Amino acid sequence: MMHYIGRFAPSPTGLLHIGSLLTAVASYADARAHGGLWLVRMEDLDPPREMRGAADDILRTLEVFGFEWDGAVMYQSRRYDAYAAALEILKAEGLAYPCYCSRKDWHAAAEQGVDGFVYNGHCAGNLFRQPENGKAAAWRLRVNHDTIAFHDAVVGAYAQNLARDIGDFVLLRADGFWAYQLAVVADDAEQGVTHIVRGQDLLVSTPRQIYLQRCLQLPPIRYAHLPLLTNRLGQKWSKQTLAPALEHRQRKKLLRQVMAYLNLPEAPEGCSAKELLQWAVAHWDISCVPCQAVCTE
Ligand code: GLU
Ligand code: ZN
Repeated sequence: MMHYIGRFAPSPTGLLHIGSLLTAVASYADARAHGGLWLVRMEDLDPPREMRGAADDILRTLEVFGFEWDGAVMYQSRRYDAYAAALEILKAEGLAYPCYCSRKDWHAAAEQGVDGFVYNGHCAGNLFRQPENGKAAAWRLRVNHDTIAFHDAVVGAYAQNLARDIGDFVLLRADGFWAYQLAVVADDAEQGVTHIVRGQDLLVSTPRQIYLQRCLQLPPIRYAHLPLLTNRLGQKWSKQTLAPALEHRQRKKLLRQVMAYLNLPEAPEGCSAKELLQWAVAHWDISCVPCQAVCTE
């Protein structure tokens, strides 16, 4: 058997919805079809945006839908020391620097990139500057003009020039919270993750994560970015677009629905939730997963 460790990494900013279910089913089926492990990690990194009780509700919902994960759930809120250690390495390499720019100031002069504004490097010379009294710094990672290219199992070839498309990006926010990009790379490495199957909304983040892996000398990971599920306006289902939470009573219908979006053959009638997942594993073929967004309404 191939060495495979996969994961599902929900953020408890809301309850699971149909889009999260698609990611859970696909990451689970891909892992189990490879004889691999499937881990669950709670990305509770941004307390101001979190919803009370969502983390427990997410785990309970996964159970009700028949998922079985390996090992204990990792919580990002308990991993701050590991993120600080990663930042220290990047500082020691001269790759991370403190930034005191206010968002308003640097946005005013910046160009639009592929994921928001491209930071103009105003503070890039700050390497040895001491923190200013009473002023909190964000820490940014210095990027370069090398093209970061990879092959995605669903999307195919994808590349970015980080300097042009993204700019030096934040690792630690000025409000003291850790940035998703750093946390996810540190955690995937800690958990030995070899394969990441997640939504295409995160495709734009992947070159940053590959770059961070290289800066920290971590092993590379294989990627598959799934089609997004949208409402009838073509908007990705999320808390903002008022995605309905998964109804436990509808679990079999919902599992069948996302399995159809993944182009899995229809399961026999009368299957339980667990049996539906077994069917997904037995018939899993990543090359059948569509690349284009799917409207669910
Ligand atoms: N926590 C992220 C989300 O819910 C997923 C992160 C990842 O899979 O890398 O969108
Ligand atoms: Zn700055």
